[in-house]
Amino acid sequence: MNTITLQAHAKINPSLDVLARRDDGYHEVRLIMQLIELHDFVILTWQEESPCPEAQADASPLRIQLTCDDPQIPCDASNLAWKAAEAVAAAMQEAGKPAPCGELTIHIEKHIPMAAGLAGGSADGAACLLGCNALFGAGFTLPELLTIGARLGADVPFAAMGAAYVNKELGMSEEPMAASCAVGEGTGTALTVLPPVDAHVLLAKPPIGVSTAAAYQGVDAFLEDPGSGDTGAPQETAEPAAAPVHGVTRIHPDIDGIILALNKHDLFSALGKMGNTLELYTLKRYHEVVYTKCKIQEHVHKGAVLMSGSGPTVFLLTPDPEEAQTALQALTEDTLTRILTRTVV
Ligand code: ATP
Repeated sequence: MNTITLQAHAKINPSLDVLARRDDGYHEVRLIMQLIELHDFVILTWQEESPCPEAQADASPLRIQLTCDDPQIPCDASNLAWKAAEAVAAAMQEAGKPAPCGELTIHIEKHIPMAAGLAGGSADGAACLLGCNALFGAGFTLPELLTIGARLGADVPFAAMGAAYVNKELGMSEEPMAASCAVGEGTGTALTVLPPVDAHVLLAKPPIGVSTAAAYQGVDAFLEDPGSGDTGAPQETAEPAAAPVHGVTRIHPDIDGIILALNKHDLFSALGKMGNTLELYTLKRYHEVVYTKCKIQEHVHKGAVLMSGSGPTVFLLTPDPEEAQTALQALTEDTLTRILTRTVV
């Protein structure tokens, strides 16, 4: 029997730009993803059966059991960690390797808030992907695992880069694609490593759920007609002025400028260029998110305050730990989930 315990870290988006809607319904995006210290634990136990008993026609030689300390999380085949284990087994068969035979138990110790825009499910899936690669002796390289991960969800490849970087015992932390920060293009899965954003983080999640699909559909109108929304802030590119969406920093964040700043380790310059296009939908629709963002902003002079993914989590990214602490104390609403953490560098 073989057991490994892996850390599955959450991410924030220091910027997210929606460029266009594609014919297949997906969106062209350009986004920065940054790993943060907040993490779940994924504990994998593998009991291999060797030799493998004669496989029955209707049964896979891989049996999976999943438990989680949070009753809200599905413990069946819909869990991304379960899907990741099956994806490794399927990829092994596709590659002509012997299918893993035995019993895999997965236990998830949940700390990342669910459906928050922090990609907690993707993090668990990515940790399981890399863990099963090791336990099953699959021998896939990190780039191969990123390709397998992309079949599970758009956030999984970056989460796999992060899992490789953080879980040193997997022996992949020195690989070029193991990293805690990246820019994603296409549907977000074409990844290029970036220097990390070295900062303190305050997370504040209002008690609502935001549908990612609805948020992307909601910004379509702004993309087709940029005049239907305004940033309320000076734009680098000239866009027609129109009705403001309260609290939105800018329609299209200056991602090239942020990359340039991160390469020069100029955090202040990077912070000033950040934005999230999906705020156009979520801030207009959910007053709780506007309220949370404005409440944090009142106490911030150095940092950037943005929504992560499609929300509802709002985060403060700041070089100043006292600023994060002050903003935390200002958020007195009992219904808010508040977490003080840091970026992984
Ligand atoms: P993303 O930013 O990738 O959209 P999110 O942070 O908004 O993700 P998650 O916490 O990853 O949201 O979960 C979204 C959904 O995924 C939940 O409704 C949940 O049922 C399902 N899910 C599947 N596996 C997991 C998991 N291991 N942890 C949390 N949720 C999971």
